[in-house]
Amino acid sequence: MTPPDAFAAVATDTDPGVDAGSGAAQEVLRRVFGYDRFRGDQREIVEHVVAGGDALVLMPTGGGKSLCYQVPALVRPGIGVVISPLIALMQDQVDALSALGVRAGFLNSTQYPDERRTVEAQFVAGELDLLYLAPERLRLESTAQLFDRGKVALFAIDEAHCVSQWGHDFRPDYLALSVLHERWPDVPRIALTATATGKTRDEIVQRLDLGSARRFVASFDRPNIQYRIEPKNKPDRQLLEFINTEHAGDAGIVYCLSRNSVEKTAAFLTENGIRAVPYHAGLDNRTRAQNQARFLREDGLVVVATIAFGMGIDKPDVRFVAHLDLPKSVEGYYQETGRAGRDGLPSTAWMVYGLNDVVQQRKMIDSSEGDAAHRRQLQLHLDAMLALCETVSCRRVQLLNYFDQPGAACGNCDTCLTPPESWDGTVPAQKLLSTVLRLKRERGQSFGAGHIVDILLGKKNPKVLQHDHHELKVFGIGTDLRDIEWRGVVRQLLAGGLLAVHGDYGVLTLTEASNEVLFDGRQVLLRREPERVTKPARAAKAGKATVDMAPADVPVFERLREWRAATAKEQGVPAYVVFHDATLREIAARKPSSLTELGSVGGVGENKLAKYGEGVLEVLTGE
Ligand code: ADP
Ligand code: ZN
Repeated sequence: MTPPDAFAAVATDTDPGVDAGSGAAQEVLRRVFGYDRFRGDQREIVEHVVAGGDALVLMPTGGGKSLCYQVPALVRPGIGVVISPLIALMQDQVDALSALGVRAGFLNSTQYPDERRTVEAQFVAGELDLLYLAPERLRLESTAQLFDRGKVALFAIDEAHCVSQWGHDFRPDYLALSVLHERWPDVPRIALTATATGKTRDEIVQRLDLGSARRFVASFDRPNIQYRIEPKNKPDRQLLEFINTEHAGDAGIVYCLSRNSVEKTAAFLTENGIRAVPYHAGLDNRTRAQNQARFLREDGLVVVATIAFGMGIDKPDVRFVAHLDLPKSVEGYYQETGRAGRDGLPSTAWMVYGLNDVVQQRKMIDSSEGDAAHRRQLQLHLDAMLALCETVSCRRVQLLNYFDQPGAACGNCDTCLTPPESWDGTVPAQKLLSTVLRLKRERGQSFGAGHIVDILLGKKNPKVLQHDHHELKVFGIGTDLRDIEWRGVVRQLLAGGLLAVHGDYGVLTLTEASNEVLFDGRQVLLRREPERVTKPARAAKAGKATVDMAPADVPVFERLREWRAATAKEQGVPAYVVFHDATLREIAARKPSSLTELGSVGGVGENKLAKYGEGVLEVLTGE
């Protein structure tokens, strides 16, 4: 990885931002977007691009990337062209900008030719502020001619990591982006991404010829997200309880590995009174698009999805992301959990994880296509993910370190809130490993975890009897631990590379490191398996949108939400396009009595004030 010091300084959370005072950019921020101050590096980025400089911006999801190109597009003469792979979301992006009074349009393959012609005519006439463009349109000479006929203020390259062939979202069309610089050398370019690994970053710079662009690397911390990873028991029940106790009525995303479990989980939640819809590649296009649209538009819907869901979903009020299966990499986990809490309000990233996840992932790696080097890569990704799951120290620190950033114990993850106990598991580890060893040495046999644990527990079940395993010396030497505890031992040994698992049947085998435990006195520290996880003290209400609100404001907030839902429905836009939760919270707390006062609330710009101001005041006075 490239050392972080090759880049601009990491922003700190304590950066107070800069008051909007003078300057065209700050004026736009206040008047159009209704915000008082830029966040973190935004001001510097905006000023750099307004002045015509190229920029590479790395910010986590929810960090505020959009403003970095939207404000310069409004300040510079001409039209900001935004290249984005998220075709399905362009309409929503344009709607959100229109609600702010920004003139925006898009060009992609979903349009009828006459719609496209209208947008092109607006572009040439300079009647747009922002144009969203699908990358495949860059291959067309007509697009280049269009750019020549209108005035381009800047090129924004969103999801810039899509240009990287090693990344997980490679789009061949993105390679065509190199023409921008060659053909329009005077137009500033700003490339943005939330993917942080050094390799991808370097590839973006190289492929987009951004060598002399200024780089802005924000902190990747998402302080409002509470990270929690719990032992998997009955995942459906655990999920239900998690939602009911902490996130009833909230919007959330539940990730599962297979389509089958997506369907089952969505049905289970629905049966239990939670509004949930499935999303996976096996659904027909219409249903899939419909479910996504419902998720974006309705308040408090849960979507159960495979990882195919969510890229570019900029719904700001997703209150939780739950994983019922182990993600394949920390990058994937971080990207998926990052979809929670873009509005900065408290949110939860919750996951359950167990022995079978490890077995299953190893199996998938064993049977994956590609060469040994590729499998090795997958293995490294998995190991990092397992290390995160098994850590006894702060999860956030571990995440940040993974992205080459420093961090201090956060106080808002499960290991900080209820520090796990560790215990000396050397003897149990030796018992388990020697059982595996004996079977191999004495009988030439290998078995899966379940059977090994049965031997340790001295269970005379049919399989044990059939193989005469009750005659082994190790039979019944492990009755001091319960079944669930033994499974925890196996899982942690696997995660730590002290044991290996192979093949379709998940048979356990020893590794080099196993021998150190068996013969060289290597100590094994394990994490205690909680019987049942009790919620961290602050977790019970961690994610509710109403957390931290004065009780008296809650009913006002709820009434504002109802008004917002009705207004959004009437106008056919997602609720957050009207106002974000954060804005409604502030209104509920301050209860402005005039339009002027309302206009000073964060997120209430000129246009929204004119459009919704009276409606909001009516809700407030209609007590
Ligand atoms: P990203 O694209 O990096 O995921 P967004 O651009 O969607 O993030 O911004 C995330 C959220 O933060 C949005 O709700 C946005 O309105 C809000 N936001 C961004 N910048 C500011 C700011 N300077 N002040 C207040 N809110 C902001
Ligand atoms: Zn922590």
